[in-house]
Amino acid sequence: MKQNSYKNLLNSTWDVVVVGTGIGGATIGWELARSGMKVLFLEKGKNFLLSENGLRGDFAETFFPSPSYAQSKYSDILMDSGRWWEEVYDLSVHKIKKFIPFIGCGTGGSSILYGGAMERFFPEDLTPIVQKKGDFDESSSLPDYWPISYKEIAPYYEKAEKLYGVKGTRDPLKKDMNFSLSPPPPMLPAAEELFDFFLQKGLHPYRLPIAVEFKEGCEGCQGFICPHFCKNDSLKVCLYPALTEFGAGLVDQCEVISLEEENQKVKSLICIKDGLSFKVKAKIFILAAGALITPLILLNSVNKNWPNGLGNNNGLIGKNLMRHHIDLYAIFVKNKTDLPSNKKDIAFNDFYNDEFKLGTVQSFGLLPPANIIVEELFKEIHLAGKFFKIGKYPLKIFLKNIFSRSILLASIKEDLPYEFNKVELLKGGKLQQKLIPVIKYQLSRYERSRINIFRKKLKRILKPYRFLCLKQSENNERIAHVCGTCRFGEDPDTSVLNKYNQVHTIENLFVVDSSFFPSSGGTNPSLTIAANALRVAKFIKQYC
Ligand SMILES: Cc1cc2nc3c(=O)[nH]c(=O)nc-3n(C[C@H](O)[C@H](O)[C@H](O)COP(=O)(O)OP(=O)(O)OC[C@H]3O[C@@H](n4cnc5c(N)ncnc54)[C@H](O)[C@@H]3O)c2cc1C
Repeated sequence: MKQNSYKNLLNSTWDVVVVGTGIGGATIGWELARSGMKVLFLEKGKNFLLSENGLRGDFAETFFPSPSYAQSKYSDILMDSGRWWEEVYDLSVHKIKKFIPFIGCGTGGSSILYGGAMERFFPEDLTPIVQKKGDFDESSSLPDYWPISYKEIAPYYEKAEKLYGVKGTRDPLKKDMNFSLSPPPPMLPAAEELFDFFLQKGLHPYRLPIAVEFKEGCEGCQGFICPHFCKNDSLKVCLYPALTEFGAGLVDQCEVISLEEENQKVKSLICIKDGLSFKVKAKIFILAAGALITPLILLNSVNKNWPNGLGNNNGLIGKNLMRHHIDLYAIFVKNKTDLPSNKKDIAFNDFYNDEFKLGTVQSFGLLPPANIIVEELFKEIHLAGKFFKIGKYPLKIFLKNIFSRSILLASIKEDLPYEFNKVELLKGGKLQQKLIPVIKYQLSRYERSRINIFRKKLKRILKPYRFLCLKQSENNERIAHVCGTCRFGEDPDTSVLNKYNQVHTIENLFVVDSSFFPSSGGTNPSLTIAANALRVAKFIKQYC
């Protein structure tokens, strides 16, 4: 696409304008463009469609002039790496903390950074009422049911698995769910050792479903843009064909800041490109700017009918933020062939639907290099006003040594929704020209106790292996699985979207990123975002 054509694109009238090109936005845009609709994508970050664009094949931090954690002064490098480059404010405790979240920004959104684990939710995830019958925290806003059943989303899971080329084996605990996946490549010997160990313990390990082609030289590019087009992200799988085969348009480096409503319909959206403000018109508007930004676009869209933000009569937009509680376990295996490992080989769900409904355990895949982790650790310690007793260099050697002898697993725990956990707009002027997220996220006593239960269970299961637990559950910077800030539901008083992801009472406005989740489930979100986007696309094609 020619660079100078963006003004024509912004001044045309479209059937559908999609804001954001992550899993949610690119998947729905692709499906609608394929069906003949005129689709325009607006994307805040850069365009990585061509192989020569962007910094690929390594973490953004490795391109910094000296070892450091992500900071605003390196925003150009972060931007070129498909990473978010602006600060988020964390006001969860009295002291303000600012950080740059490790999420995606650019064509493909977070999926150009993701590890490609594409898991179905369990049917129980869509009926949280079952969970509420056990030991349950009444202050949580967990709904009784999702507004759709597992049966309704199952065909779209299958379609999304095919679209994203997911390879793996079926979880033996999903025996009632009738689906099959393409076979994965052989496991790493260290993963095989753990797989057998878990089997002997009576657990139910399986091959983690992964959206990767495993081309020769596959580096398991988690955390950066894949240089070999081996990872099946939303840029490769959906955005590229939508633009090249199905006539869709794309304007990159274009930030959408608000919507204009009249008579319960969105008439236009306001976006900023090259410092200029544009009004874009369409019949249908789809927000997919991610669970941190989509609510801010709505909150920033005020008029006399909607003084608190578009669709926000019940004050729920931005609330119920969830992010999963994730810990890492470096397990010292006997077979050290091909370690450190960048592969996502195995998973088990034996603690998923037990009495505590904790979540999944799976291979973590590629970690940032030890010197970057050291910089992160020192930042945390420095912010806490403490000092490390050992220097950066010995710590780096120590970590390198650990990673070369161990295999990494992650525990992903479902966090429940609470209205006090939220994202808000940093205030400054009536109509914001810049959307700066302020998050407030606290762990309830119930969540803390479930984090500890998960840790104790894994400690018991991993015996007699030696392992190191890298605790990250309490860290609010770990926000890659953020969701829930525009929940869908049947009752307009307790939800932001209806079951077709339409903002209640605004018929031409949809939200399809992970904001719609009314509960976070205990596993990776991407497949559910993609499947749901395909489901919503069908509704739009039939009724809009
Ligand atoms: C390192 C990493 C590894 C991960 N691994 C996995 C994994 O293995 N499996 C899994 O399921 N999930 C994984 N995730 C999480 C997963 O990538 C996200 O949950 C998912 O991609 C979110 O998709 P989304 O469509 O909701 O939003 P996003 O992908 O966040 O997309 C939002 C898009 O909107 C754009 N945007 C933002 N603001 C604006 C604006 N104002 N105007 C225009 N555009 C805007 C952004 O640039 C972005 O392109 C990982 C995430 C990270 C960061």
